[in-house]
This record gives sequence, structure tokens and C-alpha cells, in this order.
Amino acid sequence: MLMRTDPMTEFTPGAASDRIRPAVQLDGVTKRFGDSMALHEAWLKIRPSEFMTLLGPSGCGKTTLLNLVAGFLTADNGEIFIDGELVTATPAHMREIGIVFQNYALFPHMSVAKNIAYGLRTRGIDNKEIARRVDEALALVKLTGFADRKPKQLSGGQQQRVALARALVFRPKVLLLDEPFSALDKNLRGSMQVELKQIQRELGVTTIFVTHDQGEALSMSDRIAVMSAGRIRQIAAPDDIYRRPVDRFVASFVGDANVLCGKLVDKQGDMALVAVGDIKASVPCASVAELSTGATIDVFVRPEHLAVTRRDAPGSLLGTVVTQVFQGGHVDLYIDMPGIARERVLVRVPGIAALSSCPVGAEIGLIIGADDIVAFPPDATP
Ligand code: ATP
Repeated sequence: MLMRTDPMTEFTPGAASDRIRPAVQLDGVTKRFGDSMALHEAWLKIRPSEFMTLLGPSGCGKTTLLNLVAGFLTADNGEIFIDGELVTATPAHMREIGIVFQNYALFPHMSVAKNIAYGLRTRGIDNKEIARRVDEALALVKLTGFADRKPKQLSGGQQQRVALARALVFRPKVLLLDEPFSALDKNLRGSMQVELKQIQRELGVTTIFVTHDQGEALSMSDRIAVMSAGRIRQIAAPDDIYRRPVDRFVASFVGDANVLCGKLVDKQGDMALVAVGDIKASVPCASVAELSTGATIDVFVRPEHLAVTRRDAPGSLLGTVVTQVFQGGHVDLYIDMPGIARERVLVRVPGIAALSSCPVGAEIGLIIGADDIVAFPPDATP
């Protein structure tokens, strides 16, 4: 076994979490396609019953990682364990994994019941037990009474539930879901997300879920592995990813972020003091540790962490409202802040009062009103 403990995995030697045998473990797994590095040294430990999401933009390597766990691809380097067993060279059909694909991949000529029963028949389970388990799986995905229909007689959401039932019916060690809701409309997607999460919790099945939708990842996951260009950038619980992104890619990809121009004032232990205009704020030191006092830095502030005040209020930054967007429960204000931000700053104001109190053209003050601020060295790319 390759040995390495990566702080990003939150598995610290001796910590309670490290004594739990991971349900899935990737040790330095690498996969190339010709010259292209699809996955670079992935280190990942997924706990039993955990809902782990792989989140990242198109082409970042999510499906490659999933296919390596499934056994559809072979790793060039590294090792994969399922339930403590080395499976790097084990064929897909012997890994006891349930998979739901984006396009459902149901057998069109088979009934719903036969689709669900397929994996049980290939495992030589007797007919009575198959019938019992199919009924159970249909009830689980709320499709009792649909057993004799063909897939084309079902809606997209119902087809996806059949695919889920088929993946779960043989009680897999791990459930893999590759963008399972991307073909569904927004409302159905929302209700399927809630249902899937309920089923996953009820069964306690270890799940790896692939998506490029950050909202889906934040709302459903126990932990998220954020990926970019074949690398895992951060593995953490959703609120940690949102509040404490480890680099500017994660900070920009997950949630909205304003980038303000700042200066590093001081480093004090784990925290650093930064200045934006005349305002001072504390940020985690790790991400700016290599910079010296006085260096220019980019300060990332979430739209809901900026508060509007009067233009000359002490401790505020000056800006001009350029656009208002009414969003129902809140108003998005876009603010010009020359010298403070290179791009327009987004401020999220709860309620509707900002529609009248912050008209386009108004000069306002902005206060940085939260602790969850992070800073990174300026972007080197031109
Ligand atoms: P998407 O969200 O678009 O599905 P992804 O994050 O799942 O993207 P992958 O499908 O894992 O990304 O692809 C990672 C990289 O590997 C991409 O650059 C892709 O073009 C490349 N790649 C994937 N499969 C192959 C293949 N069979 N042959 C060559 N290159 C491949």
C-alpha cells in the first residue's frame, strides 16, 4: 500500500476518523489519456455511509475518478480500496458497486421490474427473493404499481428512479451517481435531490455523487471534493468549503465571491491582518503565508457579507450603485468601487427596501460584516 496522509482528507493519524476503515480509498491514483492528465495523484478516503460529492467544471476529471472506482478504467498509478479490499485490478462486475448514469441507461425492451431485477438474475438469486427485493426497491423509490411498464411509458424523473432502484436492489457496497439529475427540469431536480438524500440516509449506503452544480453539492453532501484540471483541490464539509476555501479556484467556483484589492498588514499566528482601503480584517494566514508584510493581496468577500450603510459612515468603503436586480426575497446590487475592486462588486441585501434606498447612481458605503473572509496572492495569469 502507498503511504501518505494528506491533510486535505481530514484523516489525521491517531484521530478518531482515521481509525474508521474507509468504505472507498484512493491512494495516489493517476490516469492519463495520451498526453492528457485526466486525474493526477488523487488521494481520497470516503467514510462508510458518507455522501461524498465530486464537484468541478467540465473536464476536471470527475467521471474519470468515478470510472476508476467502478472499474471501467484502469489506473496508471496508485491503488484503490473498497471496504478495505484492494480492487485496483478487480473487474467492474466483481466490485459490488451500484451505478446510476446521467442518461439512465435502462433496457428499453424490458419492463420496470425486469430492469430492476437484472442485476439480481445475473447473481443467480432465486425468483421468489428477486420478486421480494424488486417490490421493496419499487416501494423505496415510490414506484409501486409501475412494475409492468416499459421505460418509454415513464417520465424522466420516474426513469431516473428506476435506474436508482436497479443500482440499489443488490445492496451494493458503494453507490456511484454520475450527474444523475442533469436531464431533469429544475423543479423535478429539486425534489429528486431531496428524495435521493432521504433514501441514501435511510439505507446508509456509501455514495459518490458527481456534479458540476455547486448548489446541488452544497445541499446534498456530507463532504465535497472540489476538483480542477485533474486535481483534487480541497476535501471538506460543505460549510468549510464555502467559508474556508483553500485556494482562489475553490473560492471562485463554489458560491459567489467579490475580489477586493488588499494589502497584507501583519501576520499573527494562524491569522493575518489585511487592509482594504481604510478597513482592516482578519483572514486565515495559511493562504498568504509566503507573502511579506505590505504585499498586495486579493481579498475574497461573499455578497451576503457586505452590508450597505451611508456613504460617509466610519469604517465603510465608498461605492456607486450601477444595477439593481430584484430576486424576490433579496435584492442584488452591483456596485462600482474604483481602486477597491477591478470588477463590479455584488452585494446581496435581504428584503426589498434596497430597491428604493439604493437607487442606480446612488453613492453608498459598504461594510465588511463577517469573519468568513479569505485572501490569496494576486492571480498570476494575465
Ligand atoms: P464532464 O463534467 O464534462 O463530464 P469530467 O469532470 O467528468 O467532465 P472527465 O470526463 O473525467 O471530466 O475527463 C477528464 C479529462 O480527460 C478531459 O480532458 C477529457 O477530455 C479527458 N478524457 C476523458 N475520457 C477520455 C478518453 N476516453 N480518451 C481521451 N481523453 C479522455
